Amino acid sequence: MLIQQALKELAETLGQDKITTKPAELACYSFDATAGMPVKTPAVVVTPTCTEEVVQVINIARKYKIPVYPRGAGTNISGGTVPLHGGLVLSLLKMAKILEVDAENLVAVVQSGVIIQELDNAVAPAGLIYPPDPGSVATATMGGSVAECSGGLRGLKYGVTKHYIMGLEVVLADGQVLKIGGKTVKNVTGYDLVKLFTGSEGTLGIITEITVRLIPAPEARATMMATFERLADAGNAIQEIIKNKVIPATMEIMDQMSVQVIENFAKVGLPTDKQAVLLIEVDGIPAVVEQEAEIVIKTVQQNNGSIKKAKDEREREALWTARRAAFPALAQLKPTIIIEDATVPRSEITTMLIAINEIAQKHNVTICTLGHAGDGNLHPAILTDTKDKEEMVRVHQAMDEIFKKALELGGTLTGEHGIGLAKSRYLPWEMGDAGMDVMKRIKKALDPEGLLNPGKMFPD
Ligand SMILES: Cc1cc2nc3c(=O)[nH]c(=O)nc-3n(C[C@H](O)[C@H](O)[C@H](O)COP(=O)(O)OP(=O)(O)OC[C@H]3O[C@@H](n4cnc5c(N)ncnc54)[C@H](O)[C@@H]3O)c2cc1C
Repeated sequence: MLIQQALKELAETLGQDKITTKPAELACYSFDATAGMPVKTPAVVVTPTCTEEVVQVINIARKYKIPVYPRGAGTNISGGTVPLHGGLVLSLLKMAKILEVDAENLVAVVQSGVIIQELDNAVAPAGLIYPPDPGSVATATMGGSVAECSGGLRGLKYGVTKHYIMGLEVVLADGQVLKIGGKTVKNVTGYDLVKLFTGSEGTLGIITEITVRLIPAPEARATMMATFERLADAGNAIQEIIKNKVIPATMEIMDQMSVQVIENFAKVGLPTDKQAVLLIEVDGIPAVVEQEAEIVIKTVQQNNGSIKKAKDEREREALWTARRAAFPALAQLKPTIIIEDATVPRSEITTMLIAINEIAQKHNVTICTLGHAGDGNLHPAILTDTKDKEEMVRVHQAMDEIFKKALELGGTLTGEHGIGLAKSRYLPWEMGDAGMDVMKRIKKALDPEGLLNPGKMFPD
């Protein structure tokens, strides 16, 4: 009954065209890109077109105590947008305007539904880039990537989303519009609320507008593919390249099984008979790029690897297209692919890679490992089938061990995918009692009725 009244009020306030309750449409919002999560159908999907409308939706949701699930493109891999308690999915996809590109201040202002790649395309003519580039860059939204604090392939040299967010407009659970930060490089006024909302996974407020930092595009780059007979040699090469004072823009690792699957899918000539492949890109001013490429080549060779440089833009593009095709390629093998992102200090990469292989063997599960190796951010991908109950028990045991190992090595549960629903039960392992208490108090202060993305981050 309450929901019927709320639907009526939503339609009267926003217009019927911005809400849907059609079962076929609701079904599309009952899941996201995460495998193995519960599928839950919301009661309604609302698609506002401006901040004022977001405020109206939040006020109506609060009045009728309806849970609100903010959603961008739904590409997250932590169950972050699953409407676990039904309620209202708030799609930000129609708030997709690039409001300003301010080349003088190296800043852009966007609405939260802008696709990351579109922002990068819009700033390219000014010779600028927006560096955070998750593999989903062509579909994921800016709002979703701020809410997840996404990383990506260039994290090693350029950092992750939080290093580029200068200001935010956020609609709070009580309907207030909070404006924080702005265009200045320096800003230490008050608590750092911009950082608090970056990575808050839709649990503290609805991000409606984002001010981002841009940087000049690098003048030159060199892309190389290194191959290794032994996984441990690849791990050592990664560490030594950085010890030799080269910080590549990107340093991606793929184990043998990942390479075989990707090559089968993308056919770009990746070697399928080696234990590990690294894709390495250095960028900057031409003379430095040349010098750094030489150091990379020498270091790989000293660690028993072979290496070749992409001859031209076509070869470079083929390598990165193959890497970006990794998850779709893996998804061909089994009905369910659970992608984790346990992350360790770079010095522990070799230990972690070997541990993941041992854990896979111990529990007799198939794990392909790839990831952003330069920043210790590995993506063990477990290939399974949620319908196979017996195997799923072993999958969960393997996942538990992977997370325990990452923490034991001084790492973290998630480098870039977030906690969401998928990892909430592990959160206390890393945060401890005091950490959980502080987080719960922040949540309670900003969302006392628990309306925003309930069931996420904190174990239910
Ligand atoms: C093939 C593939 C490759 C990927 N590669 C990477 C990678 O390299 N690095 C990486 O970090 N991630 C990666 N991801 C994960 C994902 O794409 C990113 O987290 C992405 O930034 C999510 O954006 P989205 O618009 O899809 O957000 P959604 O999935 O829609 O939402 C993500 C979270 O943010 C919340 N949210 C969304 N919009 C808002 C808003 N406006 N205000 C408040 N909360 C909001 C949601 O409630 C949810 O909790 C990958 C995913 C896929 C499928």
